[in-house]
Amino acid sequence: MIAAENINVTKVEQSKLKDINLENIPFGKYFTDHMLEVDYEDGEWKNAEIKPYQPLLLDPSLAALHYGQAIFEGIKAYKNEAGEVSIFRPIDNFKRFNISAERMQMPQVPEEIFMEGMRMLIELDKNWVPQQVDHSLYIRPFMFSSDHMIGVRPSEKYKFMIILSPTGPYYNSPMRIYVEEHYVRAVPGGVGYAKAAGNYGGAMYATAQAKLKGYDQVLWTDAFEHKYVQECGTMNVFFIIGNTAITPDLKEGTILAGVTRDSTMVMLKDMGFDVQEKSLSIDDVISAYNAGILYEVFGTGTAATISMIKELRYKDFVMEFDVDSWKTAPEVKSRLNAIRYGQVPDNHGWMQKI
Ligand SMILES: *Cc1c(COP(=O)(O)O)cnc(C)c1O
Repeated sequence: MIAAENINVTKVEQSKLKDINLENIPFGKYFTDHMLEVDYEDGEWKNAEIKPYQPLLLDPSLAALHYGQAIFEGIKAYKNEAGEVSIFRPIDNFKRFNISAERMQMPQVPEEIFMEGMRMLIELDKNWVPQQVDHSLYIRPFMFSSDHMIGVRPSEKYKFMIILSPTGPYYNSPMRIYVEEHYVRAVPGGVGYAKAAGNYGGAMYATAQAKLKGYDQVLWTDAFEHKYVQECGTMNVFFIIGNTAITPDLKEGTILAGVTRDSTMVMLKDMGFDVQEKSLSIDDVISAYNAGILYEVFGTGTAATISMIKELRYKDFVMEFDVDSWKTAPEVKSRLNAIRYGQVPDNHGWMQKI
């Protein structure tokens, strides 16, 4: 097995950073000077390398392109006022990565490679972590099957990589959401709880249809009755009903266990909410709305942290919200940001220093 001291480092001769303005940099478009690349072959991980960011040379028969054994993660690192860089809850993403790997019949990535590889890579490219308000470094670990062979079977070879992308404020205007009653994202027994690349590909058509109707995203419902809410696009979803904060539970395996979801539940408890993970039907949502006690609906995820929902449409019934008057979603966001940017003590042990 590879230990951290066996990660070979080849540095760029000259950083690209001098040509790039990190202020208000768009999401996911620019990548740092280096990347991590590790191969799985003959039952073991080998050739761990940090090297200049560069294209991959791949054979057209690459298994991942044909049968979709491909998973990923999304994590962020933040720079505090003193210029120190910390990663938000990376160990939780590491664990989830291996849960995804197991479901997709892919090898487990050792903690040392994932965590220490990520740390070393960020250390090397730490000048790329923006320091401005609401800016961060987006970290994208991913793994794909790399056999050159188009027989249908689990691949024998895999590649694990990490790339880094500096990112500016993710401007998320309040969303209009269409409650989906035809297409499905995930079913019990399926791969909904895994961060599998194909889950995204499989969701794009339904999302595009909702966009044609004038909506930003869909709220996924269960596959059998289209009655129980699951997730909002690629975000977990929260409903503030009276003094209760409800988010769908994870029991069926149809929902991605978001790290932001978990962090939001902790913040809401700190704020005095009765936080409940349970199945929630769209009828219950509508009843609460009609009773005037559905105060806020919002999505949570690493990219945007919190996205407020200003309109929720179910069949012909439209629920509208005055997001400007909301207190809870903005409070959760600012509490999480205070922890991330090191403005308050990290009482939960969430920030990992580089
Ligand atoms: C990544 C993802 C989320 C959010 O997870 P975080 O860990 O909070 O970023 C939610 N739903 C889906 C489907 C996702 O892929």
